[in-house]
Amino acid sequence: MEELPVISVRFIECILASEKQNIIGRISHIMYYKEALLNSIKYYYRKSVCMRKVLSKEEWLRKKRMKNYFMLGSSLALLLVIIILIISLLAKLFTGAGTNTSEKPAIDETLSNGKVIQQMLLTPNEYSRAGEQLNKVKGIVIHYTANPGTSAEANRNYFESLAEKKTTYASSHYVIGLEGEVVQCVPLNEIAYASNERNKDTISIECCHSDITGKFNDTTYESLIALVAALCNEYNIKEKNIIRHYDVTGKMCPLYYVEHEDEWEKLKDDVMEKVKELKQQESES
Ligand SMILES: [Zn+2]
Repeated sequence: MEELPVISVRFIECILASEKQNIIGRISHIMYYKEALLNSIKYYYRKSVCMRKVLSKEEWLRKKRMKNYFMLGSSLALLLVIIILIISLLAKLFTGAGTNTSEKPAIDETLSNGKVIQQMLLTPNEYSRAGEQLNKVKGIVIHYTANPGTSAEANRNYFESLAEKKTTYASSHYVIGLEGEVVQCVPLNEIAYASNERNKDTISIECCHSDITGKFNDTTYESLIALVAALCNEYNIKEKNIIRHYDVTGKMCPLYYVEHEDEWEKLKDDVMEKVKELKQQESES
């Protein structure tokens, strides 16, 4: 450690000694010893720099230790995240439909027209029920089977057969038959393969029809209105979000209701009328 310069000691002594003297006396002393003052400043400056260097080294060592701890901690956290990801991936592989296994219906099993929804869920498989989560229902898409005279169950079984045939990806949440029977194929919290880019946020309904016109018979139509109304009520879906497959891709589906715009408008009006009735009943009960 550097010694305090003698002249600085003298300067300080001088200042202390002049404590009882007047201001002018002090000033003259200060002027006289200005050299000493400058030296003192230089001395203390050098001393502070020297101390800073010592402190900096200690800090540097501490910072290095902290850095090492931080690196170790973040490596462990990263490793933990990777392990969790691997475990959840393996869990998905071994459970088929993954975490999305809730099959509880979101709407009443008995529709307002008295028809009971038949749960005939597809076996989880890549081609018709992949188990992907349907997080938010923003609309309902209406289709026709393009397969005149077939039943709801036959169309459901076709979707099921794709697991083996592996020819295409296709399914629907519901199929409504010629006798108004309603078959559910895919739970409402999973996506179905019916509406292309809208699979991810819509519920799909396939309707059976007797002939090539694609017009739904009265019984099928009544079940459709009752089902769509129940879904609109449950998911708070507005009329503009009841759409046709045609509105998604331009495909002529459901054929009759693409070719007859007025019938399509009437269909939506009938649904909204039924929704009003459901809400009325709910408020009364
Ligand atoms: Zn379609």
